[in-house]
Amino acid sequence: MHSPDVNAVFPLPDEAATQRLGERLATALQPGLVIFLEGDLGAGKTTLVRALIRALGHAGPVKSPTYSLVEFYVISSLYLYHFDFYRFESPEEFLDAGLGEYFNDASVCLVEWPERAQGCVPSPDLRLRLHHAGVGRIVEALADTPKGEACLNALIPAMGADDCCTTPAPR
Ligand code: ADP
Ligand code: MG
Repeated sequence: MHSPDVNAVFPLPDEAATQRLGERLATALQPGLVIFLEGDLGAGKTTLVRALIRALGHAGPVKSPTYSLVEFYVISSLYLYHFDFYRFESPEEFLDAGLGEYFNDASVCLVEWPERAQGCVPSPDLRLRLHHAGVGRIVEALADTPKGEACLNALIPAMGADDCCTTPAPR
């Protein structure tokens, strides 16, 4: 069972389902939103973000930021930053790299491996936790702020009743 602070669970039986979640999340973004993508290597974090960025209209390649730390896109009037802190040896590297300035009211920040910058990276509005589930994946969504809740409230109906089950928001 998932923990009680999980607001929604989306089964992702195949890669297309992960892509669909990314596409639908693209329609629920607001400037200022910080989304953490948690999960093991190969859980589907980059797959989800790639589909999101393509859905917003980006036609070129979407590189994983594993080596660059951050990739930047201006699309659909959004300033979108895609981070990956997998290679951090300590959270302070976030500060050393001067990445804090990217987290502002105008930008959307999508963060892979946020736990490697814990205590230095700003808090998220929404956390997506991807897990392996058989040959597929499952994602738990946790909204931590009203902005994250608004995003999730837009995402849940977009995913359709068959794709999602919800649990009450924490109060
Ligand atoms: P991460 O960024 O979490 O390390 P990637 O997105 O780079 O993971 O890789 C995930 C791998 O799993 C890709 O090969 C992708 O095709 C596959 N994948 C993504 N979502 C699913 C899913 N729901 N079911 C099965 N395979 C998936
Ligand atoms: Mg990745």
